Amino acid sequence: MVVTRKKLVPDVQANKVSYGKGNAKKYIVVHETDNTRSGADADAHARLQYNGNSRSASWHYTVDDKEAVQSFEHAWRCWAAGSNKGNNEGIQVEICVNADGNYLKAVQNTAELVAKILKDEGIPISNVVQHNHCSGKNCPSQMRAGKVSWSQFITMVKNASGNTQQHKPSADTSKYRVLTGTYATKQAAENVLDVLKHRFGWVAYIEPDGAKWRVKTGTFTGIDAAKLGASKIETAKLAQVTNIVAE
Ligand SMILES: [Zn+2]
Repeated sequence: MVVTRKKLVPDVQANKVSYGKGNAKKYIVVHETDNTRSGADADAHARLQYNGNSRSASWHYTVDDKEAVQSFEHAWRCWAAGSNKGNNEGIQVEICVNADGNYLKAVQNTAELVAKILKDEGIPISNVVQHNHCSGKNCPSQMRAGKVSWSQFITMVKNASGNTQQHKPSADTSKYRVLTGTYATKQAAENVLDVLKHRFGWVAYIEPDGAKWRVKTGTFTGIDAAKLGASKIETAKLAQVTNIVAE
């Protein structure tokens, strides 16, 4: 679970850059900062809000590759979504895109934070939306450009939701493997195998499938571990399709 800390904007300042409290908390609105400067991380954005942002803008959380920093309690109706509905009913989450940060890790951390907010506030996952959904703005822009696709992000939230529910040790000792879709050449499958073995440190194999090839992992214990494995393969863009099969 991503490390989360609070650096709450004082009420006097909060009242200048929001519609006050009374947020209906029906949606989580996902944004990117679009600030690619080195050092434009979660702490920097939280300090900007804390010290009095000169722009008429505000948001609840900023997330980078290391942490999530909360600037407003959920009750505040922040100014971020570009529509009354989005601002009055949404919890605003900004993903950092600073050049010295790891974007993929920041997205993963955001997925974990979003999963926690969904659970805490009883919001359905179908109400996790892009800023674009509220006002048509091209935000979150890198995600919308496909750097991590929206569907991959939602899968990451679902996987993280599974983890947040694991308060008790999982009793699921069933074994599963992850199978990729097929590759046209053996070389393509070997390239993927190489990443799984040497970068992820996994056991994995190549199998023929008709005239094509696919990659099969060693076994994961428990369905949640297998889902995380499949998500990792898709996030790294090693396969467009993955299937989880029971042993
Ligand atoms: Zn936005």
